[in-house]
Amino acid sequence: MSIDVRAVADLGPDERAALFDRNAGIEAIRDDVREIVDRVREEGDVAVREFTEEFDGVTVGNLEITDACERAVDEIDDELLEAIEMAIANVREFHEAQLPEDWRREFDDGRELGRRFRPLDRVGAYVPGGTAAYPSSAIMTVVPATVAGVDHVSVVTPPAEEVNPVTLAAIHLAGADAVYSVGGAQAIGALAYGTETVTRVQKIVGPGNRWVTAAKAEVRGDVEIDFLAGPSEIVVIADETADPDVVAADLVAQAEHDPNAPVVAITNDEATAEAVAAAVDEQAGAREREDVIREAVANDASGVLLARSMSEAILFTEEYAPEHLTIVADDDEAIVERIDSAGSVFLGPHTPVAAGDYASGTNHVLPTNGGAKVTGGLSVETFLRSTTVQRLSRDGLAEIGETITTLAEAEGLEAHAESVRVRLEEDENETTSD
Ligand code: NAD
Repeated sequence: MSIDVRAVADLGPDERAALFDRNAGIEAIRDDVREIVDRVREEGDVAVREFTEEFDGVTVGNLEITDACERAVDEIDDELLEAIEMAIANVREFHEAQLPEDWRREFDDGRELGRRFRPLDRVGAYVPGGTAAYPSSAIMTVVPATVAGVDHVSVVTPPAEEVNPVTLAAIHLAGADAVYSVGGAQAIGALAYGTETVTRVQKIVGPGNRWVTAAKAEVRGDVEIDFLAGPSEIVVIADETADPDVVAADLVAQAEHDPNAPVVAITNDEATAEAVAAAVDEQAGAREREDVIREAVANDASGVLLARSMSEAILFTEEYAPEHLTIVADDDEAIVERIDSAGSVFLGPHTPVAAGDYASGTNHVLPTNGGAKVTGGLSVETFLRSTTVQRLSRDGLAEIGETITTLAEAEGLEAHAESVRVRLEEDENETTSD
């Protein structure tokens, strides 16, 4: 199974649909996921344990593994510990820079208005751990929550025959308050509705496979969620100056996540297109997760695309709204200026997506399937709520009083208008009696 080279201009309607409507089969499993979530809601821990046996093949002892996470820190070697601590420091630094300041401002005519920001109380983070271990996702979800000041951060992560101490240690070092050994849709149900062991949260964040993503879509409404962060995806824009091996390396890296991961390179240069496809084939054969990679690159949602011009490549990318966008082209800054819809952008030949996945400091939990058209990735704001605050002076109220009463009466809400008049009249009476 290898990656196809296709001309953008020749794409048929089905091919375009596969590229642009890439929900990775989520719709097909919605009914199954609803059943899992409903059973967890009704039966709590019993259902969680049953589904864990069925889908993870593991009989869990203690569902709560908070202490085991703390102990895992002693089990990992110094090099790994140092890498986790450095990644945490960089992610913390970048997210601290995002903390918004509370503000109040005097506007003309007696209106003092402002905004203040407060953290959520209880948040749940999904840290994937099915076919690969994701200590990095522990860092990306928990650190921003702690920077925002969230009071209680719960983490769920799938159990395994051999629990990965690196993931557990990263969850502890990132600052989680409680950790539970449960994955998939059952974990999302447990966070959304609570069980005897798992504390119910206000908001669920984090990436996962299609079961996790479909479950987040299912519980949305009963609990807040960040956004749908499903199987990873990438678009690489390349021109004739790009090294095909570098372009292929980012495609193969993304494909290694999941057989459903869509990976696309788009270029205005035919020789580059052919060279990238050949390099993907060669590199895939040398990787440990070759099977996953080959399935992902052969997917209808993946391909090397030949555009007639860089403008066509840009328009395609804007419509695609990729989770990750790598640009390896001479005028990368001019290209990125023309793209509004992308989760995270990586510029130049020395900026692999893996830098943002692990350690540069930006967040790797990003919207997939076109979500970047309406939202960015996880950030400190994800964990904050804002409140507006105002105070009007008497003159301020007098100044806008008529505007308020006119609009309130137009809506037939007389009591609203009266709440203005009573204040102004009271003040007038006081002035008269003085
Ligand atoms: P995962 O933790 O997301 O999923 C594992 C769980 O899926 C298991 O615990 C099991 O309960 C459930 N499951 C598997 N097959 C099932 C079935 N047939 N029926 C019911 N439940 C089933 O781990 P994973 O599978 O390794 O996937 C991780 C995903 O996270 C990948 O798709 C990766 O691309 C994605 N990811 C996305 C981002 C992002 O920001 N978008 C970041 C990192 C990872």
